[in-house]
Formats: sequence, structure tokens, C-alpha cells
Amino acid sequence: MGKAMIIGCGGVAQVAIHKCCQNSEVFTELCIASRTKSKCDAMRDKLQNTTATKITTAQVDANDVAALTRLIEQEKPGVVLNLALPYQDLTIMEACLAAGVPYVDTANYEPEDTAKFEYKWQWAYRERFEQAGITALLGSGFDPGVTGVFSAYALKHYFDEINYIDILDCNAGDHGYPFATNFNPEINIREVSANGSYWENGHWVETKPMEIKRVYNFPEVGERDMYLLHHEELESLALNMPGIKRIRFFMTFGESYLTHLRCLQNVGMTSIEPIEFEGKQIVPLQFLKAVLPDPASLGPRTKGKTNIGCIFTGKKNGETKHYYVYNVCDHQECYREVGSQAVAYTTGVPAMIGAMLVLEGTWQKPGVHNIEEFDPDPFMAALNRWGLPWQESFDPELVD
Ligand code: NDP
Repeated sequence: MGKAMIIGCGGVAQVAIHKCCQNSEVFTELCIASRTKSKCDAMRDKLQNTTATKITTAQVDANDVAALTRLIEQEKPGVVLNLALPYQDLTIMEACLAAGVPYVDTANYEPEDTAKFEYKWQWAYRERFEQAGITALLGSGFDPGVTGVFSAYALKHYFDEINYIDILDCNAGDHGYPFATNFNPEINIREVSANGSYWENGHWVETKPMEIKRVYNFPEVGERDMYLLHHEELESLALNMPGIKRIRFFMTFGESYLTHLRCLQNVGMTSIEPIEFEGKQIVPLQFLKAVLPDPASLGPRTKGKTNIGCIFTGKKNGETKHYYVYNVCDHQECYREVGSQAVAYTTGVPAMIGAMLVLEGTWQKPGVHNIEEFDPDPFMAALNRWGLPWQESFDPELVD
């Protein structure tokens, strides 16, 4: 079928690379390009003998548009899958435009110095992608990603209008450390230490970090405390779901994680303001990242399951209906399959699927689009095939 270029070779990328190699009928060639080429080479050496996909590697600084454009023009992929950090989204989009190649990512742009993520920077590229006839698919991870696909699927098959969406992200995995983050610590801590917010009746309602708590009995996991957070898919779903009145996002956190986080915040370790240390400027959060366990090292230690899904309330033929669709993923099964824990797995698999649908041309829509703007059916079928089967309930426990 064709060639993909994956940018980045961290936790999520390594899962996506494994999955592309399993799916070698679609991904006949793969170029892995990242800042540290040795990581890309290690992945190639690990996988090349196990797959028909032809793997090449390259060193690139994705902040350098000219260098990245040259690399894309030289490699000629049919799709670029951005699995670097949110800070690189705009430069990679620029390079895709310059080289005329479709773009897929899993997280929206965030300026490195403001800890504020929103879609406006990437949506500003809509016209340029449209005029160039190139598809940009935003947010093809799990959340955002599968949560948007679930929403589009619910709307297509079960509702005339969706009024309420609760997105519930439960990670019941235990890695045995008192404190560690399951993906890039800098991104993770910036996300959870920010104010929460939800969308209600046409506007944002802001909350203090961790102010709203609920307890939910997750299928296959059990009861967990969960907290309302701001999350990026709320912004696009608020625009793309007809009849929407409220969207909330909840994530589970254990008591130990929250106590450590509070302490780190109180002593200033989660700040992104640079400070002077021994004659050098350092960012406390970046220093903290350097002393925390590498998320990639959590794989062999993590036991338990994740359960991520969406509860919808809306109307069909004038009647109120509820629908819950979710995926349960087991950390150790993921580790056995691809050598990563479930948080990276649940992001890397949808990243591969999004790249596949764009590469095949199944999803082709010039412009910059969020995932719920595409036909959900091929994505839902691919989730079942590629390791993230979903389950549904028409009578779920609701969140008050
Ligand atoms: P990691 O930190 O593990 O990996 C990031 C990779 O990007 C590293 O290989 C890094 O290179 C590379 N990179 C960073 N800067 C550059 C640059 N300037 N040029 C080239 N490569 C660069 O992060 P994760 O794998 O945990 O996360 C990847 C993405 O997935 C993030 O954007 C994250 O927000 C997103 N994500 C999305 C989720 C979802 O459900 N939608 C859930 C979890 C994550 P090096 O190895 O040299 O440091």
C-alpha cells in the first residue's frame, strides 16, 4: 500500500511502530525520524526481522521546518504521523504543507512557555490545508482520538442529538513506584495541575485543579475516585456534536499520586518558569522530569487495567437514551505484545489506525479536521482488529 513517516520515537511512537509493522500490508514502508536517531535505529533493529515492512531511520529536529521538509521530500511518505511532543505540531504541519503530505497527530499544539493547550493555532491552518488539497487529522490517540470516534459513532447509530457526554478515563494500573507518570511527565503534570473546566450551555465553566470529584464503578476495574479535568477534545466536540449541552472529562487518580503532586506543587517543582540554579537557567518541571522514572521503563512493572470510554445521553425519535462505549486494556497483555504499558498502547494503536485510514485514502478530507468529523465506522472496526476492542452498554451507571 504505502509509506508512513513517524516523527518521534518515545513511548507512544514505539507502540505505533510495532502496530505499523504488524500491519505490513498497509504500511509497506516506514521511516522513523526523531531527535535521537539511536532510538529509531534500536526500534528498526528490534523489528526489521519480524515484519515485511521496510524500516528506515533518520535524525531530525522537528522544530526545524526546512530540515524536516527536506527529509519528507526525500522520503516521500504518503502520511506523516507526528508522535513527537505537542510543541512540534505547528512546525510539522508547516513541513507537511511545504512537502504536500497529509498530517496526523495525537495532541494539540501547546506553546512551550504558557501551559495552555487549545486548537486555535492548528485550526488557523484550515484554509492552507484545504487550498493545498491536503488532509490534516488532529487528535488520533485515545483521548483525544477514540473518544471522538466513539462520539461520532454514537451520533451516527444511536442518537438524533447528543445532549450530554461524560468522558471517563480510568487507569487502574499499579507500577509499584510511589510517584511516576504514565506518559511524558512534563506533559502529564502540565495537564493535571492546570485548572479544570467543562463545557455547559455554550460556555466554559472553570474549576480549581481537582475541585470536582466523583466515584465511579468501572466495568472490569471496580470503584475508583475520578476528578474533572480540562481536556482538549472538549473544545472540538463542543463544536461538532449537534444539540450538545454539557461535556465533562474525568480522570482517575489514586491518593498517593495526588499527595505527591500536591507536595511537588507546593515546593515549586512543577513550575514552568525558569529559575537560576548554579549559574544556569533551569525549568523546575523539566528538572523533575529528569529525576522521575522514564515512562517507558514502567511497562514491565505495571499490573492492572485501563478503562476509557464515553457515556452519552441524548434523544432518538424524541425519547431520551443513554449509551456507554468503552475499551478495557490490560497493562501486562500490552507489555507482552509490544513491550509497553497500556497508556502508551491505547494511544499508539489509534495513532496507527488514523495514519492507516489517511494513507489508504479511506479518510480523505482536505483541510484541518478533528477526528469526529470523519466516518467512525472503519475506525471502530479497526479498533476491534488491532487490539482495542470496545464494549457497549445501553443502561450504564450515570455520573451525577
Ligand atoms: P515521549 O517523551 O516518550 O516521546 C516524545 C518523542 O518525541 C521522543 O522520542 C523525542 O525525542 C521526540 N522529540 C521531541 N522533540 C523533538 C524534536 N524537536 N524533533 C524530533 N523529535 C522530537 O512522549 P510520548 O510518547 O509519551 O508522547 C508522544 C505524544 O503523544 C505527545 O504529543 C503526547 O501529548 C501524546 N499523547 C496523546 C495521548 C492521547 O490519548 N491522545 C495520550 C498520551 C500521549 P528524544 O527521544 O530525543 O527525546
